[in-house]
Amino acid sequence: MNPEMRTRIVAGNWKMNTTPEEGKKLVSEMIPMIDDEIRGAVHAILIPPILHLSGLMSLFSNRKQSLSWGAQDCSAHSKGAYTGEISAEMLLSVGVSYILVGHSERRAYHNETNTLCRDKILRIIEAGGCPIYCVGETLQEREEDRVTPVIEQQLNEGLPELLWEKSLPLIIAYEPVWAIGTGKTASPHQASEVHGLIRHWLKTHASDQIADSTSILYGGSVKAENAAELFNMPDVDGGLIGGASLQSRSFVEIVKACVR
Ligand code: PEP
Repeated sequence: MNPEMRTRIVAGNWKMNTTPEEGKKLVSEMIPMIDDEIRGAVHAILIPPILHLSGLMSLFSNRKQSLSWGAQDCSAHSKGAYTGEISAEMLLSVGVSYILVGHSERRAYHNETNTLCRDKILRIIEAGGCPIYCVGETLQEREEDRVTPVIEQQLNEGLPELLWEKSLPLIIAYEPVWAIGTGKTASPHQASEVHGLIRHWLKTHASDQIADSTSILYGGSVKAENAAELFNMPDVDGGLIGGASLQSRSFVEIVKACVR
């Protein structure tokens, strides 16, 4: 497949920010800035706190726009006595299409392992959604020259074969931990190198066709100023944006920078 054919995606992870009212204001500012040209070229996914989802979707989903909705996490279980948890099926039932799995903040603060991520991915695919699986090395791992084994282990242990057996949708986000929320961005070359590694892993573990059609996003201090040079690198199909997705103008500038 020609890489030009892969879906270009920019996803905004709001993390634990904004009240529902602030969230509505943010989306209502973004929508008029996303014109037809951008709409046709880049798929934008908004990932607000779970509490905001139903309200935002009922207000904005029927308008002419190309926004899809994502959730920041889901349970590794289907249902039952898991107080405080939300299942993938519940999220899909209110209109969520994408669910983040293995974000570095969940790995670091909630001790999420690759195996737990795998269980979450299985729940998401059972529910009919698309996982956005986040992988990335810490600064120490990079300094110890362990980027390749760390990423490969995250892929080996986190991604169930069912994905390839049934050709199910998947997005992978490469997010170096040292670049998330720090203002330090991977250089375009560093990002492209790891994206190439992930694409190669997909070729050897899934198929050429899956490797060629899977969108791989870069995340880690992407801003309007550095987005284009990252998104123009080979194997970089868009971005997962944290801080800069909380301002309508900067998020829309980043979406525009993803247009080929
Ligand atoms: C993220 O949370 O996925 C992220 C990339 O954050 P930031 O853009 O703020 O570094």
